[in-house]
Amino acid sequence: MRTFHCNRCDQLVFFENVRCERCEALLGYLPDLGELSAFEEAGDGLWRSLHPKAEGALYRQCHNYAVENVCNWMIPADQPETLCRSCQLTRTIPNLTAPDNRLYWYRLEVAKRRLLYTLAALGIKVESRHENPQTGLEFEFLEETSPGEKVLTGHDNGLITLNIAEADDAYRERTRTAMHEPYRTLLGHFRHETGHYFFDRLVDGTPWLEPFRALFGDESVDYAAALDAYYRDGVPADWSQSYVSAYATMHPWEDWAETWAHYLLIVDVLDTATSYGVALIPLDPSDPTLTDQTPVEDASFDNLMKRWFPLTYALNSLNRSLGMPDGYPFTLAAPVVEKLRLVHRVIAAQSAAGVEPAQAAQAAQAPGPTAGAQPGQTGQAGQPGQTGQPGQTASAAEPAPAPQPDQPQQAPQDTPAPNPATAP
Ligand SMILES: [Zn+2]
Ligand SMILES: [Zn+2]
Ligand SMILES: [Zn+2]
Repeated sequence: MRTFHCNRCDQLVFFENVRCERCEALLGYLPDLGELSAFEEAGDGLWRSLHPKAEGALYRQCHNYAVENVCNWMIPADQPETLCRSCQLTRTIPNLTAPDNRLYWYRLEVAKRRLLYTLAALGIKVESRHENPQTGLEFEFLEETSPGEKVLTGHDNGLITLNIAEADDAYRERTRTAMHEPYRTLLGHFRHETGHYFFDRLVDGTPWLEPFRALFGDESVDYAAALDAYYRDGVPADWSQSYVSAYATMHPWEDWAETWAHYLLIVDVLDTATSYGVALIPLDPSDPTLTDQTPVEDASFDNLMKRWFPLTYALNSLNRSLGMPDGYPFTLAAPVVEKLRLVHRVIAAQSAAGVEPAQAAQAAQAPGPTAGAQPGQTGQAGQPGQTGQPGQTASAAEPAPAPQPDQPQQAPQDTPAPNPATAP
């Protein structure tokens, strides 16, 4: 995530903010420009952007911004929509009469917006159900309202379901511990589930399927049987030699989703570090060093990896000084790096093609067979890394249970960072 500045007073401001802390200007994100902008009132519910790139254009607040306080995105004044690009993707929101649900909804939307930012930065086109009724993306945030009811986080043909309890820190941490996961976050769920979605869009039925199978295995094996086996037999002791997480061993679809999620994590964290000018210049030059500042969207995969490892050492060491678990509780064995490389190539090819994703792969390479697809269920995990390595982006400013999404106009103290998990 890039850094942003208030266009009125130049104060450093953040993606999630709704007001400039210094000059109190209204802030809002302009998805059409990929910029956070300060605004001045223009009457009639309209706001004039002070961002140089917007050239004085008028915008309206998303309804979920102006009224519900769970959003901070803006809509060009000449467009008829009442919901922003991100909120339009949410088909079902929680029942807001339950006291904590607004907070959970807010946290879910914050994580979704960050995901959308990263996808846009990578040039990955996201279509809504409105734009594409067959394969558009949509989300529903569901609550278990009766004791026997089970809401499973998962993806089904473009519909991503999240159990809103995942936005409850205590619930999520309990689940993480019970599942022996080193890392479980809302943002990670969004990344993982979109991995399933984009597998269907970018890999399945395209020439990418063959290279996919060479690395991830045959995804046509029975999913339900694989799921049963996973919970019955557990994971192989040496899983970390080939997988990014224990859950990834379950089925090639889950391996892809975990790897995809991990790739997005790496890109977002490196993007953030780069935008802050983070560099590592140790006294002993043989220690992890980081000076390269290539924007992540221009970086080769090898370049990303070369910068990633030093950053993770520093990140985890900083976390340990804070008395926190490692921010990045993962290790990346060589086969995992090759899987990440394939994700990078698939994304780069579709981004370069800039058009119909399914066809984009043709521009890239080999032909391949097909197979039915339809991921399952949630999964997220990782493995206590050997070495310190980074992890996770700070998720957001968390409002008090009441409205008022924004909050932390202040920098990093916004919410340091979720809770990766216990360290090795
Ligand atoms: Zn300001
Ligand atoms: Zn919105
Ligand atoms: Zn999954």
